[in-house]
Amino acid sequence: RRVHPPSSPGGGSIPGMADCLFCRIVAGEIPATIAHETPSALVFHDIAPKAPVHLLAIPKEHHEVAASVAGADPKLAGEVLAAATEAAAKAGLTGGYRLIANTGPDSGMEVAHFHVHVLGGRPLGPMLA
Ligand code: C5P
Repeated sequence: RRVHPPSSPGGGSIPGMADCLFCRIVAGEIPATIAHETPSALVFHDIAPKAPVHLLAIPKEHHEVAASVAGADPKLAGEVLAAATEAAAKAGLTGGYRLIANTGPDSGMEVAHFHVHVLGGRPLGPMLA
């Protein structure tokens, strides 16, 4: 399975991509518990869950942040969002859930491969508390 595009739109390789943790999960090099998979997206359980259900939805192809994937491939951005909601339904989150996509240092983003957190399984309270 191809994990990375052969080249970025600018030509060269994308910085940091070779060591990308989530690309390695897509490649099966690092174990993860898969919750849902589509041709273009993967949803797996967060290793340090912050709620009874805590999933991460990612594009299989490497994009750093929401703006990167939305700019380069808006259809793919939509497919990741759809995969996140499908996984939430499969997980039985009928009471609702929260989607979060951290971007950049101010957000506390730790992994520079676009991901949507899916949090649920209990009342989450106000987000900006
Ligand atoms: O949005 P942020 O970049 O901070 O989120 C990264 C998430 O990836 C964290 O919630 C962390 O627990 C998760 N993670 C994981 N598996 C790993 C490493 C990190 O689920 N092997």
